[in-house]
Amino acid sequence: MINRRFVLTSRPTGLVSSANFRFEEVPLPMIKDGELLVRVKYVSLDPTHRIWMSDMEQYMEPIALGDTVRAFGVGVVEESKAQDFKKGDLVSGLLNWQDYAVGNVGTFQKLPPLDVSPTAFLSVLGLTGVTAYFGYLDITSPKAGETLVVSGAAGAVGSIVGQIGKIKGQKVIGIAGSDDKCRWLTNELGFDGAINYRKDDVSAKLKSLCPSGVDIYFDNVGGAISEAVWARMNLFGRISVCGLISGYNEGKQMLGPKNFSLILMKRLKVQGFIVIDYAQRWAEAVHALYGWVKEGKIKYSEDIEEGLENAPQVLNKLFDGSNTGKLILKVS
Ligand code: NDP
Repeated sequence: MINRRFVLTSRPTGLVSSANFRFEEVPLPMIKDGELLVRVKYVSLDPTHRIWMSDMEQYMEPIALGDTVRAFGVGVVEESKAQDFKKGDLVSGLLNWQDYAVGNVGTFQKLPPLDVSPTAFLSVLGLTGVTAYFGYLDITSPKAGETLVVSGAAGAVGSIVGQIGKIKGQKVIGIAGSDDKCRWLTNELGFDGAINYRKDDVSAKLKSLCPSGVDIYFDNVGGAISEAVWARMNLFGRISVCGLISGYNEGKQMLGPKNFSLILMKRLKVQGFIVIDYAQRWAEAVHALYGWVKEGKIKYSEDIEEGLENAPQVLNKLFDGSNTGKLILKVS
C-alpha cells in the first residue's frame, strides 16, 4: 500500500508555499505486534503549524526538516495488532499530513461514543474547544458581571471562549476581521458587541463598548490589537495569552506590547498556557462542552476543505482570515 505524505523541506518565511514541502508517495510498513494502521479521515489545520514549521523557541520540538508535517487528526483503524482496538474504530491523535498513520496504542485515543460528527473532536470537543475551556476558566477565574474581551473572536477558540463567557454571566465583546464575522458573533452567538479591527478604530470602539473597562482579556492575536485592549484593562485585570497569531509568520520571537508597564500600574495578571498542560483534565472539558452543545448554549462552526494535496494552501486561510470556524482538511 502507498502512503502519500507532506515532508517539510524548508522553513517558510511569510505564508507557506508548496516549495516548503515534498509531496511524496512511499510504501506503508507492515505493522508490528502492539501497533495499529489508521486511515486518516480529517486533519486539523492550526495556527501553531506555523510555529512548528519555524525554528523559533517554542513549546515542543519544531518539525525537523525531512519529517512528515505534524498534525492532529481523526482516523479509522484499518488493521490492528493491538489489544482493545479493532478494525473500524474511530481514533484521534497525531496523524500528520498523510493518508495513513502507523503507531502503537499510546499514539491514538479512541473517540468517545458521543452523538456528534467525528470532526467535532478536532473542533468544539477537540483541541480548540478544550483550549477555550481551560484558557478562559482556569487562567482568568471569571465572575458574573465582569467584562470579557476576546480577540480572534470569530475563530475556533475565540468563538467558544465568548460563548462560555455568556454562560458565566459576563459581558462579552469580540474583536474580529470582518463585518460578517462580527454579525455572526452578535446575532448568532450572543456576544454583547463586536469590533471589526480592519475597519473600526479599535481603541475608540473599546471605549464605547466597555465603558467600565475590561476585566478579562483572552488574547489570540497579540500585536496592536492587544495593545489597544491592554490600555482599557481595569485594576487587577486578568489576561490569558492563548495565541499571538499576528506574529507567527515572522518566524522569530515576538515582541511584547509597548504598554508592558500597565502590568505594574494596573496590577494585571498575565498568564500564557498551552492546552497540553491540561492533558490530565481533558475529559472534564469535553464533558462540559458536550453538555453545553446539547443544551444549545454553544454553537460551533467548522470550515472543512478537501484533499490532502491542498494542505499548504488551505493552511494559509488561517492567516488571511478566510476560514469560517475550525479549519479542517478532509483527507479521505
Ligand atoms: P482561528 O480559527 O481563530 O483562525 C485564525 C484567525 O486568526 C483567522 O481567521 C483570522 O481571523 C485571525 N488572524 C489571522 N491573522 C491575524 C492578524 N495578523 N491579526 C489579527 N487576527 C489575525 O484559529 P484557532 O482558533 O485555531 O487559533 C486561535 C489562536 O489560538 C491562535 O493564536 C492559536 O495559536 C491559539 N491557540 C493556542 C492554543 C494553546 O494551547 N495556547 C491551542 C490552540 C490555539 P480574523 O478574520 O478575525 O482576522
